[in-house]
Amino acid sequence: MDYQKILFEIKEEIQPYLGLGKVANYIPALAGIDSKKFGMSVHTIDGKLFEVGDSKELFSIQSISKVFTLSMAMRLENNLLWKRVGREPSGSKFNSLVQLEHENGIPRNPLINAGAHVITDILTSNYENPKAEILNFIRQVSNDKSIDFDLEVAKSERETGNRNLAMAYFMKSFGNIHNQVRQTLDVYFHQCSIAMSCNQLSKAFMYLVNEGVDIHSNKEIITKKDSDRINALMLTCGMYDSVGDFAYKVGLPSKSGVGGGIVSIVPNKLSVAVWSPGLSASGNSLVGSKALEIFVSKTGIGIF
Ligand code: GLU
Repeated sequence: MDYQKILFEIKEEIQPYLGLGKVANYIPALAGIDSKKFGMSVHTIDGKLFEVGDSKELFSIQSISKVFTLSMAMRLENNLLWKRVGREPSGSKFNSLVQLEHENGIPRNPLINAGAHVITDILTSNYENPKAEILNFIRQVSNDKSIDFDLEVAKSERETGNRNLAMAYFMKSFGNIHNQVRQTLDVYFHQCSIAMSCNQLSKAFMYLVNEGVDIHSNKEIITKKDSDRINALMLTCGMYDSVGDFAYKVGLPSKSGVGGGIVSIVPNKLSVAVWSPGLSASGNSLVGSKALEIFVSKTGIGIF
């Protein structure tokens, strides 16, 4: 398969859509980003990288970080964890509060904000320095020590993240956040602020392509079973309240972030990372979703 040629074609075909959608201006540090940016990378299981456009440019990974923290938490507390967070699509906005009251402070899944707060709370309880552990995990799976927090983005979210704070305090009232809310959310805002490029992200997600095993060191990051489970959760919960539509059009386990990134997995084959900052109403990259749709239609690749 000539992935390089396909990426060049995709870049041409998405041109009419560039600039559509709205950047995540509710996070002031992200408000000024050029919505016309576009990058895409494919990393294959035999270690080849194909890229196009702004594929080397760093952007805020935001909710894509939830997959890394979930992997870490599953290594620590695989059974206990599922008493505190569900495994169902939410059908609501990524930062919605309404379900939490009806469902006694148990978030629907670990890939929406409330669920990610619980996961980060687990890491905060287990590690003396959870921020450093998260960074180490990501540096390990991407085999890249240069990856770091963007402290300006973390500060910007801390100063304006009242909805996240409200959600976490609400869950604490049900006993589902164990640490101080400010402490857990400081970790959460930092994990969201991590800056990576499409190239780095496609590489970092290879352990979920390769049945839980790091392709660089051959070390097990998570078990095969957990890798399968995380892929299943990404397929059913990774794209917020447009997860059904996205599965219909793209059909790959995927995770988006409001920085405009999306990563998709084809188990035992490849990972694809795409970035374009203009978002749809659901908070997913509009051009990124389109690019992935074109990618699966041109390659015929899929999990079904
Ligand atoms: N840091 C963002 C927030 O908490 C993450 C949301 C996202 O990427 O979907 O609102």
